[in-house]
Formats: sequence, C-alpha cells, structure tokens
Amino acid sequence: MFKAIKQAPPDNPKIDRFPCSKCGALLTFKPGTQHLVCDYCGEQNQIEDRLEVIQEYDFHQALVELARAKPAVGIAQIQCDACGAGFKFANNVHAGECPFCGTAIVTGTAQTKPITPKSLLPFKINEQQAKQEFKRWLKGLWFAPSKVKKYTDDDAKLKGVYIPYWTYDSDTETRYFGARGDVYYVNQEVQTVREGRVIYETRQVPQIQWTPVQGRVARFFDDVLVGASTSLPRQILDQLEPWDLANLVPYNESYLSGFTSEYYQVNLDQGFDNAKRKMESVIYQDIAFDIGGDQQRIDQFNTQHSNTTYKHCLLPVWSAAFRYQQKAYHFIINGRTGQVQGERPYSYWKIGFAIFFGVIVLVGLLIAMERAGVMQDVRGY
Ligand SMILES: [Zn+2]
Ligand SMILES: [Zn+2]
Repeated sequence: MFKAIKQAPPDNPKIDRFPCSKCGALLTFKPGTQHLVCDYCGEQNQIEDRLEVIQEYDFHQALVELARAKPAVGIAQIQCDACGAGFKFANNVHAGECPFCGTAIVTGTAQTKPITPKSLLPFKINEQQAKQEFKRWLKGLWFAPSKVKKYTDDDAKLKGVYIPYWTYDSDTETRYFGARGDVYYVNQEVQTVREGRVIYETRQVPQIQWTPVQGRVARFFDDVLVGASTSLPRQILDQLEPWDLANLVPYNESYLSGFTSEYYQVNLDQGFDNAKRKMESVIYQDIAFDIGGDQQRIDQFNTQHSNTTYKHCLLPVWSAAFRYQQKAYHFIINGRTGQVQGERPYSYWKIGFAIFFGVIVLVGLLIAMERAGVMQDVRGY
C-alpha cells in the first residue's frame, strides 16, 4: 500500500507564488483554462499536469499512521515576500490573499495537517458565469421577495474557494434479521347503516402475514463523497453533487493561485462515519429488496467493511452571502457545473396572496357548479 502520511517538516510552511516572467506581477489561475494569467500584462503560463495516477490509500493503515504521527504544529506565521508583512491565515485556510497587499499566496498543508490533498478539480466556471447562474437561480425562486429577485450583485463579490473532501471506497457485506410481510385477504362481515336501516355486508379486508427472515447483502461503494469543511453549511455542500470526479487532476498549487483553499476540518475517521451513514441508506434499500414481499421489517443489521480506501481532494465552489432584512443567506455555486444551492428568503405576502387567490378561484368554481346544476346531482336531490 502507498504511504500517504509524511512527518511534518520542522520549519515555516513552503510558500508558493507565481510571479509573471515579463512584469513581475502575480499570475493567477484562469478558470476553465489550463493557464496562469497575469492581470497586468496578459502574459499566460501553461499549467502542466503531472502524469500521475490518482491513487486510493488504505484507510486502516492511515489511521494507524495518524495515531503514531506527531501532533501538528499549528498555523505558522507567513511572511509576504511582496510587501514584507507578516500575518497568519485563518485556522482553516492555506491559500488566499495577503491581507495587506492582496498578493495571492499558496502555502503547503503538510505543516498543519498530516494528510495533504493529492488531487483536485480545477475551477471551470469563472466568477462572471457564476454570478449569472446565481441571478438565474434567484429569478426562478417561487415566493421570493421582489427586492431579492431584483438584487443586483454588481458589488457582491463571490469568493472562489477550494473545499476539502474525503472520498471513500468500501466493500461491504451486511447480515440482517427482519421479517417479510405478505398481504392476504379475508372475508369479514361488516355492519353498516343504509337509508336508516342496519345491514350486514361481506367485505374483503387485507391482512399481513409476517414471516421471520434473515440473509446477507453485499455491495461495493465507489467514491462516497464527504465534505471535510465546517465553514459552509453541510446540507448545501451535500446538495452540490454530482462532481465529475473522473476528471480529478494531481494536486498542483498553480490551480490555487488567486483562490482561497481550506484545510480539512473533519478528520479522516469522522469523515468515514459520515460516509458509512450515506452507505447505510443504500444498504437499507438493498435489504428491503432482498427480503421481498409486500412489506419489510428490518430488525437488525450489521455491516462489515473491507478493503476500505480513501482519497483526499479539493473541489471548487463560488461562495457568497446576501443580506435581506438583517439576515444573511448563504449560497454556493458548484465551480464545475454552475449548479446553485442556497438558503433563501420567502415573501409571506406573496404566499398569503397565492392562498387567498386560490380560495377565491375555488369559491368561484363552486358557485359556477351550483348554477350549472352539477351540485344538485351530486347531492342527489
Ligand atoms: Zn505580467
Ligand atoms: Zn503582502
């Protein structure tokens, strides 16, 4: 198996900057291209992807190595070599801008976290495109306040962030105990009242016969994705799927230049607990299918995981928040597909009006039916 964890180097983190060979200004990654571009003179540098297979790493071996590894040193002081200022990034960030001069800085992650990202998906959607997708999303929202719909985001700045993710592969075998329910019908005498008289009728009544069952189901899970960031709402992150993980490229700092990038905040084993929960909902359906019958009851199941492997990768999102009536609403745009997910305000006026309008239509319809004589027939006059 491949070793994924290295001992942290002792001194300051490695800082990567990408100066323009023509004018010395800074090159930043241009989404949707293979280039680093100079904002000042337009010079372009091709990013060469390393010819490297994106590997899976053994999960249990990694846990053993993590237990042995020295505790991380923490966030080190960074010296900006453009303006000379010393500063620290936020706890969860390893690439961003110098807070004093705005220079794009990418630092290595080995200093702070024992597992470093080995692959990433570069941004494909640029900020302008992301804004357009966001506007379209806002326009399509039902019952959103008009002010929000007209929200012009010219001053709102989207932040391009690489979010750390774990992906897990696992071979599962699950033993279960439960019961299969089969429906059958019995004739039953039922007492009813018709036209003022008590009568008896025979009716077919469904019953369920339960039979105890046990069995095994097996399934291989490939690339179950778990967000390892805690800075964005988890529900929103989860809804950004699917990601085109088949297009992961080997980790390369060049793609981070000009963007923020985060360290993982959810550990490898915590991430696997989340992945297991995702897998369990699929296994649950497998068991129900295996039991068959008309209804299923699952009393107990126990899943064995084997050949569990993981990858640590970075995925690109455009993130921002807008304020509406003193409340901040987050939204996130998938940096590959442009898919928007977010929190949203509702207009209670609009919802109230829609209900009111619906009631008027219904009442109108009833009056019309009454006049047309439809109601008389229904009531049996
Ligand atoms: Zn230049
Ligand atoms: Zn600086």
